[in-house]
Amino acid sequence: MRSISIFGSTGSIGQNTVDLILHQGGPAAYRVVALTGNGNIPLLARQARALRAELAVTADPAQYEALKAALAGTDIAVAAGPEALVEAAARPAEWVMSAIVGVAGLAPGLEAARHCDTLALANKESLVCAGPLLIDTCAAHETRLLPVDSEHSAIFQALQGEDRGGIERLLLTASGGPFRQMTRAQMAGMTLAQAVAHPNWSMGQRISIDSATMFNKALEMIEAQVLFGVAPEAIEVVVHPQSIIHSMVGFADGSIVAQLGPPDMRGAIGYALNYPKRRPLPVDRLDFAALAQLSFEAEDPTRFPALAMAREVMATGGLAGAIFNGAKEAALDAFIAGRIGFLEMAEMVRAVLDELGGAVDINVNQISLADVMRYDTLARARAADWAAARV
Ligand code: NDP
Repeated sequence: MRSISIFGSTGSIGQNTVDLILHQGGPAAYRVVALTGNGNIPLLARQARALRAELAVTADPAQYEALKAALAGTDIAVAAGPEALVEAAARPAEWVMSAIVGVAGLAPGLEAARHCDTLALANKESLVCAGPLLIDTCAAHETRLLPVDSEHSAIFQALQGEDRGGIERLLLTASGGPFRQMTRAQMAGMTLAQAVAHPNWSMGQRISIDSATMFNKALEMIEAQVLFGVAPEAIEVVVHPQSIIHSMVGFADGSIVAQLGPPDMRGAIGYALNYPKRRPLPVDRLDFAALAQLSFEAEDPTRFPALAMAREVMATGGLAGAIFNGAKEAALDAFIAGRIGFLEMAEMVRAVLDELGGAVDINVNQISLADVMRYDTLARARAADWAAARV
């Protein structure tokens, strides 16, 4: 019986993963070592019961009693707090899904990389903040790292059987988000509800807003660079509003290999779950006659400055990704709280990069978790200073 853990099981990716596990036999086919969530205790408890998990963990210590009460009468162990997440990640499992949102997923993901056979990585922030650290940790422990982000799963699939030396470019597709056709002036007034309304994908609140600003694509560019070891210049973004082509690889001979599918994350999650096999998945099948057309547009650096920032971060390397992500997370928090407007998210991140991006000690080859967290904290503090100074 295959042993698995799901970090962030109550989120959008986590729930899709639980669905697939149930679809593939549930507790009769899988030994579920640990499930984790944060605030959604009723769902975490329901999932833990349905999958007969050995351990359920909430990241929030204040929710310990609620989780304990929700699982009373079962033999499911309960724990709470960020350290408990890392301890859960130290429990050996053959397959682990890393789907906590934000830099909070980094420490458990790193620990899981030391104790599992396959790490299915949805938490792109881990690679943005600490890419080389995570890659080296996986290599040192012979852990297979599989991308779950649909673009990176597409590239990974397109590269099966290929010599990576033949890669000329990686073409990340982007839907363009809900504001793709708006002017900057229109974008300035966009609200939280409008920003989370993604045209194609159903995702968590934070990544949906990141799609509207295209910070999500910016993170994905860095993620792609780390995962596939290509030069920053080899990464291109193509706006493809239908989200049917999930990404493409261009090879030295001019050929392009693309991966297509419906915009449903269960495709990429299921691929990582069943790799190297392919098993039937409960996703729609593409009907090309009904699709009518696939269209493409160039990226727009004026309305979406996040992409240029990603190129700058890749060129700097070291801890620049931790600064970028920390500032981006702070900007997202400020927008969600109604403290800044939609376009000010990019302004805030720009200001933090300008201030911290030239620091001498960010240009390091070997980064540690402590360094990443130090720069994450610093970036958030600078972001708060920027917000305070502007009012
Ligand atoms: P959600 O916001 O839907 O879920 C996030 C998960 O993390 C939930 O289980 C949540 O718990 C938990 N969580 C929140 N804060 C903390 C914290 N401080 N410590 C520990 N756990 C926490 O996110 P998504 O599922 O959308 O995204 C998860 C990751 O996957 C992100 O890195 C995202 O970029 C990536 N991703 C997501 C895609 C998608 O389609 N959604 C596509 C590709 C990548 P609770 O809900 O109980 O509060």
